[in-house]
Amino acid sequence: MRELITPLSKMLSSREISSVELTEKYISAIENENQKYNAYVSTTFDKALENAKLADEMIAKGTATALTGIPMTLKDNICSDGDLTTCCSKILRGFRPYYDSTVWSKLKAQGAVMLGKTNMDEFAMGSTSETSCYGAPLNPRNTNHVTGGSSGGGASAVAANLAPYALGSDTGGSVRQPASFCGIVGLKPTYGAVSRYGLIAYGSSLDQIGVLAQSVKDTAIVFDTISGVDANDQTSVDFDFGNIADTLDNTDVKGLKIGIAKEYFENINEEMKAAILDAVKLYEANGAEIIDISLPVLKQALPVYYIIACAEASSNLGRYDGIRYGYRPESYNDVEEMILRTRTEGFGDEVKRRIMLGTYVLSSGYYDAYYKKACLLRENLISDFDEIFNTCDILIAPTAPNTAFPLNYSGASPVDMYLSDIATVPINITGVPAISVPIKNDSNGLPIGMQIIGKKFSEKTILKAAYFYEKTAEDMVGNVEGGVQLGL
Ligand code: GLN
Repeated sequence: MRELITPLSKMLSSREISSVELTEKYISAIENENQKYNAYVSTTFDKALENAKLADEMIAKGTATALTGIPMTLKDNICSDGDLTTCCSKILRGFRPYYDSTVWSKLKAQGAVMLGKTNMDEFAMGSTSETSCYGAPLNPRNTNHVTGGSSGGGASAVAANLAPYALGSDTGGSVRQPASFCGIVGLKPTYGAVSRYGLIAYGSSLDQIGVLAQSVKDTAIVFDTISGVDANDQTSVDFDFGNIADTLDNTDVKGLKIGIAKEYFENINEEMKAAILDAVKLYEANGAEIIDISLPVLKQALPVYYIIACAEASSNLGRYDGIRYGYRPESYNDVEEMILRTRTEGFGDEVKRRIMLGTYVLSSGYYDAYYKKACLLRENLISDFDEIFNTCDILIAPTAPNTAFPLNYSGASPVDMYLSDIATVPINITGVPAISVPIKNDSNGLPIGMQIIGKKFSEKTILKAAYFYEKTAEDMVGNVEGGVQLGL
C-alpha cells in the first residue's frame, strides 16, 4: 500500500512538478494503457488540463489544500456538468448532465483534476463490472480476471496507476469488493456521511459514494474533503468528523475491542480465512482484545438486500422512458410503443431482471410477503448490529468470500453471483461504515481483502484501525507495474 496524495502534493508545492505536467503524465499513461484495462469509458482531458492550470494558480497563490492539482476519476454514475455520465448503459449513451454532483463540486473547489469517467456494471448492478455496455474492465493484478464490481473501472484505474484515487458508489459492496479484488483500499462511508446529490440512483436507501485509493491515508484525505451535510441531499447528516487524516499517525490499537463473527467465516475458503485471522493476530499482539461473537442475523442479509435494492431500483429506473433523456428508438407508432421499445432495447438483461424482481415484490398481493417482510428484517439487522457495537469497537471480516473471479464468471447463475455479496450487503442494510484493506495474495496471486466495520459515524475508528494494519504489516500485495509511478 502506497501513499500517493501527500507525496504528490509535496512535489507540487515544492514546484518539482506542476499540476499540468502531472496531469499530462496521467493522460499519456491512459492513452497508452487504457486499452489494456478498459478502466476509463470516457475521458475529460481538455477539462483536466484547464483544472490543472487553475490548480497551479492556487499553488502559486498559496491557497492549495491536500488535493489541489492531483488527478482523479469519477465512476460513470456520478454527474459532472457537461461530461458524459452514462451508468455504462445503452439507455444513457450520450447523456451529459447539466450540473455537478456535490462530491465533484467539493473536489473541484479544492483544485482536483478529473481525468474521466470509469467503467462499471450497468446502473451499478453487479459484482464483476461485466454488465457494462462498454465491455468489462480488467483486473491489473491479472487481466484474465475481473475487477469486481460495480466500481470496477475505478478500482482498475487506481490499481494500474492510471489515477491516484477514484470515487465510486457502494450500494451492496461496489466500492469494497472491487478494491479487494484489485488489491487496493475501498471505503464505504456511513449512510448520510457523503452527499448523494448527483449520484444516479440505484437503491436510494443503500447507495453511498465511497473512495478507492492505494492507501488508507489517501482514502482518509479524500473522505475528509467529500463528507458533510448538503442541503441538496435530505438524507445527508450534519456530523463533525474532524480532520481524520491528520489523526492517523498516532494510532494505537491497545484496548481496541475487535469482534469476530463466526458466521462471517463460514463459507469462505481456508486460505482466505487463515489470511484474515493472521491479520487479526497482529492486532492482538499489539494489545487489541479479540471477542468471538455470533451474528446469526447475517444469514438474512442477502435476501433482504436483493428485495430492497430491486424494489428501489424498479422505482428509480422508471424515469428512463425515452422522453427526458438517453436512448430512444428511431421509429415507433405511438407513445406506448416508444416507451416499451426504449426500455426493451436500452436496458441490459441484469437491469431488466432487477426491475422485474422489484416490481414483483412491490406488487399488491406480494408486497407484504416480500417487501414489507424485508423491511422488518432490516430493522432486526440494524438492532443486532447496534447491540454488537455495544461490546465491540470494530468487526473484522472478509470483504468477499472469494478473490477475483475469472472473466465471464457472471455467465454462472445470477443467484451464484448474488451469493458472492454476502459479506458486504449487511453494511449497506444497516447503514454503517466499512473499509476494505488488502492483506496478501492468495496462491493464485490474487489479492485478499480484509473488511473493517464500525458503528455509524465511526469512520475515524475504522480508518485508524486500517491505518494501523497498513503501517504495521508487511506489504504482501505489492504494486502493479506501469501507469504513473511516484518516482515519475
Ligand atoms: N453486487 C451488488 C449488486 O449487484 C452491489 C452493487 C453495488 O454496490 N452497487 O447489487
